[in-house]
Amino acid sequence: MIDRDTYPLWNSPSMSAYLTTLSHENMLVEGRGVRVRDAAGRWFLDARSGLWNVTLGYDHPKVTEAIERQLRTLPFANLVGYGRPGAIAVEAAEALLPHLPVHMNKIRYCSNGSQAVETAVLLSRFLHHSGGEKERLAVFGMWHGYHGLGSGAGAVTGMSYVHDQSGPLLPEVHHVSGPFEGAAAPGAGLEQTITACGPERVAAVVLELVVGEGGHVLSDDYLHSLERFCRGHGIHLIVDEVSTGMGRTGAFTRTEQVGIRPDILTLGKGLSAGYAPLSAVVLSDEVSARLFDLDFEQKFLIGSTNDGHPLGLAASMAVIDTLADGGVLENVEAMGALLRQGLEEVAARHPQVAAVRGAGLMQAVEMVAASQDGALTGGAMADHLRLALEERGVLVSSLAMVPAIMIIPPLVVTASDVEEIVTTLDKALAEIRY
Ligand code: PMP
Repeated sequence: MIDRDTYPLWNSPSMSAYLTTLSHENMLVEGRGVRVRDAAGRWFLDARSGLWNVTLGYDHPKVTEAIERQLRTLPFANLVGYGRPGAIAVEAAEALLPHLPVHMNKIRYCSNGSQAVETAVLLSRFLHHSGGEKERLAVFGMWHGYHGLGSGAGAVTGMSYVHDQSGPLLPEVHHVSGPFEGAAAPGAGLEQTITACGPERVAAVVLELVVGEGGHVLSDDYLHSLERFCRGHGIHLIVDEVSTGMGRTGAFTRTEQVGIRPDILTLGKGLSAGYAPLSAVVLSDEVSARLFDLDFEQKFLIGSTNDGHPLGLAASMAVIDTLADGGVLENVEAMGALLRQGLEEVAARHPQVAAVRGAGLMQAVEMVAASQDGALTGGAMADHLRLALEERGVLVSSLAMVPAIMIIPPLVVTASDVEEIVTTLDKALAEIRY
């Protein structure tokens, strides 16, 4: 048992609930391949990839060596000011750009996903503002979209309980239901709301292409229609690929699979495979041209000491190499299909499961709204399922808003790992009493 008074961390939104699940034995002490070991010596298959970011497993030799090399030569250089960035920042950006959509040509590195989203949103406002459109402030996101926490990214995240926990966050941020929540036609909900609000007041739309909170995949039709709408009204399309980018759906970006042209794209998580913090904001040709034209007259000041940290950049270069040469993307496609098929077979056997959805190695298993006897909500059922899987040796995520578990394993899982995830889920669903 953990003693609340001597426990040194404040590391969860709800500490009293957290402490009831915590013990010294639960703490993780080692990782090998796609598995982690706790202090009691139990090994788990990590089907949530750390926090969806440990894409290459825990002991990838190329990533580890790259970081060690950088650590010994130049552990830090300041990216933001004084004109002496680390050369590795330029090398990392040059290595990444060929794998990003062709119309995008500049990268700004940050430290985490929330910061990348916040930078993207504020940059959008800055560009409109400095172009004389001072009323163009509104930002639209989707309910259930997750874009991080804090007063900028948290405002964009479509979870109302985040918005009012500490009083007002970033003003002029609005949310609409996603197309997965019954909008009449592709694009209708968002486009109608923006039209009613006055598109000339809207700076940007921010969205995920596969919604982490429940695995909904936005259709190509929806996205192409939205892109046309945004372009027609001078609204920036900001695509948040913090979860989906860097291989998760079988390509460097989901954007490239869908064939849309965002103005700004965010990356994080798999960008450094979890070995060191790193995120990125990627700009289209058009956006970077506008920004660079303005550069000398007006300053867009944003950044933080550890942005583009050399250890994260070293990791990212090894990640790029591995994704480009290592057959990892092909593995995601094959293992994603195998996982999906297995989950659908399991779902067909268990009436507690309402739906399976997702893309690549990002799959949701959604529970029905409530247990048969009405005693548990779907959300509680998903939490129980997560814990039941954990007891049986598989770590997955459950969610805050949607009654689902997310299965997001490292991109390097094998067929036997996938089999283990699926059979453990099957067993857990058969053994838990709802
Ligand atoms: N955007 C998306 C799509 C995410 O999934 C996340 C993290 N779950 C974030 C932004 C925020 O990233 P971070 O936790 O690194 O701030």
